[in-house]
Amino acid sequence: MRICNQCKAPLKIDVWACTACGWQPRVLAGVLCLAPAMMVDHDGFHEPLFVEYEKLEATHFWFVYRRKLILDALQRYFPALRSFMDVGCGTAENLRAIQARFPRARLVGGEASLRALMQGQRKCKAQLLQMDARAIPFAQAFDVLGAFDVIEHVDDDAQVLAEMYRACRNDGGIVLTVPQHPSLWSHMDDAAKHKRRYTRQELVKKVEAAGFEIVDVTSFMTLLLPAMAISRVWQRAKPPGDAMDDGFRIGAAMNGMLGGVCTLEHNLIRAGLRFPAGGSLLLVARKKGWTL
Ligand SMILES: [Zn+2]
Repeated sequence: MRICNQCKAPLKIDVWACTACGWQPRVLAGVLCLAPAMMVDHDGFHEPLFVEYEKLEATHFWFVYRRKLILDALQRYFPALRSFMDVGCGTAENLRAIQARFPRARLVGGEASLRALMQGQRKCKAQLLQMDARAIPFAQAFDVLGAFDVIEHVDDDAQVLAEMYRACRNDGGIVLTVPQHPSLWSHMDDAAKHKRRYTRQELVKKVEAAGFEIVDVTSFMTLLLPAMAISRVWQRAKPPGDAMDDGFRIGAAMNGMLGGVCTLEHNLIRAGLRFPAGGSLLLVARKKGWTL
Protein backbone atom coordinates (compact mmCIF):
# COMPACT_ATOMS: atom_id res chain seq x y z
CA MET A 1 0.00 0.00 0.00
CA ARG A 2 1.25 3.46 -0.88
CA ILE A 3 0.76 6.21 1.68
CA CYS A 4 0.81 9.99 1.54
CA ASN A 5 4.21 11.43 2.34
CA GLN A 6 2.63 14.31 4.18
CA CYS A 7 -0.37 13.00 6.15
CA LYS A 8 0.34 9.22 5.90
CA ALA A 9 -3.21 8.55 4.60
CA PRO A 10 -3.47 5.60 2.18
CA LEU A 11 -3.32 6.66 -1.49
CA LYS A 12 -6.32 4.88 -2.93
CA ILE A 13 -6.24 6.12 -6.47
CA ASP A 14 -3.59 5.02 -8.91
CA VAL A 15 -1.63 8.26 -8.92
CA TRP A 16 0.68 9.83 -6.35
CA ALA A 17 -1.76 12.45 -5.13
CA CYS A 18 -3.44 12.57 -1.71
CA THR A 19 -7.18 13.16 -1.60
CA ALA A 20 -6.96 13.65 2.19
CA CYS A 21 -4.50 16.56 2.35
CA GLY A 22 -3.96 17.60 -1.26
CA TRP A 23 -0.24 16.69 -1.36
CA GLN A 24 1.04 15.99 -4.85
CA PRO A 25 4.66 15.25 -5.79
CA ARG A 26 6.44 16.68 -8.83
CA VAL A 27 7.85 14.59 -11.66
CA LEU A 28 11.32 15.59 -12.90
CA ALA A 29 13.18 13.77 -15.68
CA GLY A 30 10.62 10.99 -15.43
CA VAL A 31 11.27 10.49 -11.71
CA LEU A 32 8.64 11.08 -9.07
CA CYS A 33 10.13 13.53 -6.56
CA LEU A 34 8.80 13.12 -3.05
CA ALA A 35 11.52 15.08 -1.26
CA PRO A 36 12.71 17.81 -3.66
CA ALA A 37 14.50 19.70 -0.87
CA MET A 38 16.97 16.79 -0.62
CA MET A 39 17.86 16.67 -4.30
CA VAL A 40 21.10 18.59 -4.11
CA ASP A 41 24.04 18.18 -1.75
CA HIS A 42 22.96 18.04 1.84
CA ASP A 43 24.08 16.79 5.19
CA GLY A 44 23.61 13.12 4.32
CA PHE A 45 25.50 12.67 1.06
CA HIS A 46 27.81 14.30 -1.39
CA GLU A 47 26.40 14.45 -4.91
CA PRO A 48 29.69 14.18 -6.89
CA LEU A 49 30.41 10.87 -5.17
CA PHE A 50 27.65 9.27 -7.23
CA VAL A 51 29.49 10.03 -10.44
CA GLU A 52 32.50 8.18 -9.06
CA TYR A 53 30.33 5.41 -7.64
CA GLU A 54 28.69 4.86 -10.99
CA LYS A 55 32.04 3.87 -12.47
CA LEU A 56 33.09 1.86 -9.44
CA GLU A 57 29.99 -0.05 -8.43
CA ALA A 58 30.03 -2.51 -11.31
CA THR A 59 33.66 -3.57 -10.97
CA HIS A 60 35.30 -2.49 -7.69
CA PHE A 61 35.97 -5.52 -5.47
CA TRP A 62 34.20 -4.04 -2.45
CA PHE A 63 30.96 -3.32 -4.31
CA VAL A 64 31.09 -6.65 -6.17
CA TYR A 65 31.57 -8.61 -2.95
CA ARG A 66 28.88 -6.71 -1.05
CA ARG A 67 26.45 -7.36 -3.92
CA LYS A 68 27.17 -11.11 -3.78
CA LEU A 69 26.50 -11.16 -0.03
CA ILE A 70 23.23 -9.26 -0.51
CA LEU A 71 22.06 -11.70 -3.22
CA ASP A 72 23.04 -14.67 -1.03
CA ALA A 73 21.08 -13.25 1.92
CA LEU A 74 17.96 -12.70 -0.21
CA GLN A 75 18.24 -16.15 -1.78
CA ARG A 76 18.80 -17.90 1.52
CA TYR A 77 16.25 -16.17 3.74
CA PHE A 78 13.66 -14.91 1.24
CA PRO A 79 13.80 -17.37 -1.69
CA ALA A 80 10.22 -16.61 -2.74
CA LEU A 81 10.87 -12.86 -2.94
CA ARG A 82 8.03 -11.13 -4.79
CA SER A 83 8.65 -7.52 -3.85
CA PHE A 84 11.73 -5.61 -2.77
CA MET A 85 12.57 -2.01 -2.02
CA ASP A 86 16.12 -0.67 -2.01
CA VAL A 87 16.18 2.30 0.37
CA GLY A 88 19.02 4.56 -0.76
CA CYS A 89 19.43 2.72 -4.04
CA GLY A 90 22.00 5.14 -5.49
CA THR A 91 22.50 4.43 -9.17
CA ALA A 92 20.51 1.15 -8.92
CA GLU A 93 23.43 -1.20 -9.46
CA ASN A 94 22.17 -3.53 -6.72
CA LEU A 95 18.61 -3.37 -8.07
CA ARG A 96 19.92 -4.43 -11.45
CA ALA A 97 21.52 -7.51 -9.86
CA ILE A 98 18.42 -8.29 -7.80
CA GLN A 99 16.29 -8.01 -10.94
CA ALA A 100 18.53 -10.55 -12.67
CA ARG A 101 18.28 -12.96 -9.72
CA PHE A 102 14.55 -12.45 -9.05
CA PRO A 103 13.15 -11.50 -12.47
CA ARG A 104 9.52 -11.71 -11.38
CA ALA A 105 9.83 -9.56 -8.26
CA ARG A 106 8.35 -6.07 -8.13
CA LEU A 107 11.25 -3.71 -7.45
CA VAL A 108 11.25 -0.19 -6.09
CA GLY A 109 14.25 2.04 -5.42
CA GLY A 110 14.22 5.14 -3.24
CA GLU A 111 17.04 7.65 -3.25
CA ALA A 112 17.53 11.32 -2.35
CA SER A 113 19.75 12.14 -5.33
CA LEU A 114 17.80 12.74 -8.53
CA ARG A 115 21.03 12.55 -10.51
CA ALA A 116 21.74 9.05 -9.21
CA LEU A 117 18.20 7.96 -10.10
CA MET A 118 18.50 9.34 -13.62
CA GLN A 119 21.58 7.15 -14.03
CA GLY A 120 19.73 4.23 -12.45
CA GLN A 121 16.73 4.48 -14.76
CA ARG A 122 18.81 3.18 -17.64
CA LYS A 123 19.74 0.01 -15.79
CA CYS A 124 16.61 -1.69 -14.56
CA LYS A 125 12.86 -1.71 -14.67
CA ALA A 126 12.46 -0.90 -10.96
CA GLN A 127 10.20 2.00 -10.06
CA LEU A 128 12.58 4.70 -8.83
CA LEU A 129 11.46 7.39 -6.41
CA GLN A 130 13.33 10.49 -5.30
CA MET A 131 12.64 10.44 -1.58
CA ASP A 132 13.85 10.84 1.98
CA ALA A 133 14.68 7.54 3.72
CA ARG A 134 13.08 9.04 6.83
CA ALA A 135 9.71 9.18 5.01
CA ILE A 136 9.11 5.97 3.04
CA PRO A 137 5.74 6.30 1.27
CA PHE A 138 4.59 2.70 1.79
CA ALA A 139 2.91 0.51 4.39
CA GLN A 140 2.93 -3.31 4.38
CA ALA A 141 4.14 -3.20 0.81
CA PHE A 142 7.32 -5.28 0.45
CA ASP A 143 8.57 -8.77 1.28
CA VAL A 144 11.99 -7.29 1.90
CA LEU A 145 13.52 -3.84 2.20
CA GLY A 146 17.24 -3.33 1.89
CA ALA A 147 19.42 -0.41 2.95
CA PHE A 148 22.99 -0.97 1.85
CA ASP A 149 25.39 1.46 3.48
CA VAL A 150 22.62 3.99 3.96
CA ILE A 151 21.57 4.35 7.61
CA GLU A 152 25.03 5.50 8.68
CA HIS A 153 24.36 8.64 6.61
CA VAL A 154 21.32 9.60 8.66
CA ASP A 155 21.34 11.27 12.08
CA ASP A 156 18.04 9.66 12.99
CA ASP A 157 18.75 6.11 11.84
CA ALA A 158 16.00 4.83 14.17
CA GLN A 159 13.50 6.78 12.07
CA VAL A 160 14.70 5.07 8.87
CA LEU A 161 14.35 1.66 10.54
CA ALA A 162 10.86 2.55 11.78
CA GLU A 163 9.85 3.55 8.24
CA MET A 164 11.29 0.31 6.86
CA TYR A 165 9.28 -1.58 9.48
CA ARG A 166 6.03 0.05 8.38
CA ALA A 167 6.78 -0.50 4.68
CA CYS A 168 7.59 -4.17 5.30
CA ARG A 169 4.92 -6.86 5.03
CA ASN A 170 4.11 -8.68 8.26
CA ASP A 171 5.81 -11.83 7.01
CA GLY A 172 8.76 -9.93 5.56
CA GLY A 173 12.13 -8.62 6.64
CA ILE A 174 15.10 -6.39 6.01
CA VAL A 175 18.70 -6.73 4.89
CA LEU A 176 21.21 -4.08 5.97
CA THR A 177 24.87 -3.35 5.47
CA VAL A 178 26.73 -0.71 7.47
CA PRO A 179 30.35 0.22 8.18
CA GLN A 180 31.64 -1.40 11.37
CA HIS A 181 34.00 -0.33 14.16
CA PRO A 182 33.98 3.33 15.23
CA SER A 183 37.76 3.00 15.67
CA LEU A 184 38.16 2.63 11.89
CA TRP A 185 36.80 6.16 11.36
CA SER A 186 38.81 7.95 8.67
CA HIS A 187 38.55 10.91 6.34
CA MET A 188 36.68 8.56 3.98
CA ASP A 189 33.84 8.51 6.51
CA ASP A 190 34.01 12.30 6.69
CA ALA A 191 34.00 12.58 2.89
CA ALA A 192 31.03 10.20 2.62
CA LYS A 193 29.26 12.27 5.30
CA HIS A 194 28.83 9.28 7.58
CA LYS A 195 27.31 10.02 10.98
CA ARG A 196 28.77 6.91 12.56
CA ARG A 197 30.36 3.52 12.12
CA TYR A 198 28.48 0.85 14.06
CA THR A 199 29.39 -1.64 16.67
CA ARG A 200 27.51 -4.89 16.16
CA GLN A 201 25.72 -4.34 19.47
CA GLU A 202 24.50 -0.87 18.45
CA LEU A 203 23.14 -2.10 15.12
CA VAL A 204 21.41 -5.13 16.64
CA LYS A 205 19.88 -3.00 19.41
CA LYS A 206 18.50 -0.43 16.97
CA VAL A 207 17.08 -3.06 14.61
CA GLU A 208 15.41 -4.87 17.51
CA ALA A 209 14.06 -1.61 18.91
CA ALA A 210 12.39 -1.00 15.53
CA GLY A 211 10.44 -4.25 15.95
CA PHE A 212 12.53 -6.79 14.07
CA GLU A 213 14.19 -9.98 15.24
CA ILE A 214 17.67 -10.77 14.04
CA VAL A 215 17.97 -13.72 11.69
CA ASP A 216 21.61 -13.48 10.74
CA VAL A 217 24.46 -11.08 11.32
CA THR A 218 28.08 -11.23 10.30
CA SER A 219 30.96 -8.93 9.74
CA PHE A 220 32.54 -8.94 6.31
CA MET A 221 35.69 -7.43 4.84
CA THR A 222 37.31 -9.37 7.65
CA LEU A 223 40.34 -10.82 5.93
CA LEU A 224 41.26 -7.36 4.66
CA LEU A 225 40.72 -5.77 8.08
CA PRO A 226 44.43 -5.70 9.02
CA ALA A 227 45.26 -3.96 5.72
CA MET A 228 42.37 -1.58 6.29
CA ALA A 229 43.53 -0.74 9.82
CA ILE A 230 47.09 -0.07 8.62
CA SER A 231 45.80 2.11 5.80
CA ARG A 232 43.71 4.10 8.31
CA VAL A 233 46.76 4.85 10.44
CA TRP A 234 48.65 5.85 7.32
CA GLN A 235 45.80 8.09 6.15
CA ARG A 236 45.62 9.84 9.52
CA ALA A 237 49.29 10.70 9.18
CA LYS A 238 48.78 12.62 5.96
CA PRO A 239 46.64 15.69 5.35
CA PRO A 240 43.05 15.00 4.33
CA GLY A 241 42.80 14.54 0.58
CA ASP A 242 39.78 14.70 -1.67
CA ALA A 243 36.55 12.77 -1.37
CA MET A 244 37.70 9.45 -2.76
CA ASP A 245 40.91 7.99 -1.46
CA ASP A 246 43.32 5.31 -2.52
CA GLY A 247 41.00 2.64 -1.15
CA PHE A 248 38.68 3.29 -4.08
CA ARG A 249 41.11 4.42 -6.73
CA ILE A 250 43.04 1.26 -7.33
CA GLY A 251 44.42 -0.37 -10.44
CA ALA A 252 43.00 -3.45 -12.14
CA ALA A 253 45.71 -5.77 -10.78
CA MET A 254 45.16 -4.64 -7.19
CA ASN A 255 41.40 -4.85 -7.68
CA GLY A 256 41.78 -8.43 -8.91
CA MET A 257 44.01 -9.39 -5.99
CA LEU A 258 41.75 -7.88 -3.33
CA GLY A 259 38.76 -9.41 -5.14
CA GLY A 260 40.43 -12.79 -4.75
CA VAL A 261 40.69 -12.30 -0.99
CA CYS A 262 37.00 -11.35 -0.93
CA THR A 263 36.08 -14.46 -2.93
CA LEU A 264 37.84 -16.58 -0.32
CA GLU A 265 35.96 -14.80 2.47
CA HIS A 266 32.69 -15.07 0.55
CA ASN A 267 33.14 -18.84 0.31
CA LEU A 268 33.75 -19.04 4.06
CA ILE A 269 30.55 -17.07 4.81
CA ARG A 270 28.60 -19.23 2.35
CA ALA A 271 29.93 -22.28 4.15
CA GLY A 272 28.41 -20.95 7.38
CA LEU A 273 31.29 -19.11 9.02
CA ARG A 274 30.31 -15.86 10.76
CA PHE A 275 32.91 -13.20 11.54
CA PRO A 276 32.89 -11.02 14.67
CA ALA A 277 34.98 -8.22 13.18
CA GLY A 278 35.39 -6.66 9.75
CA GLY A 279 35.13 -3.45 7.80
CA SER A 280 31.37 -3.85 7.49
CA LEU A 281 28.36 -5.61 8.97
CA LEU A 282 25.64 -7.52 7.15
CA LEU A 283 22.40 -8.04 9.04
CA VAL A 284 19.19 -9.91 8.15
CA ALA A 285 16.08 -9.48 10.29
CA ARG A 286 12.37 -10.31 10.16
CA LYS A 287 9.33 -8.66 11.64
CA LYS A 288 8.85 -10.08 15.11
CA GLY A 289 6.52 -13.02 15.62
CA TRP A 290 6.39 -14.03 11.97
CA THR A 291 8.02 -16.91 10.21
CA LEU A 292 8.29 -17.44 6.50
ZN1 LIG B 1 -2.01 13.42 2.51
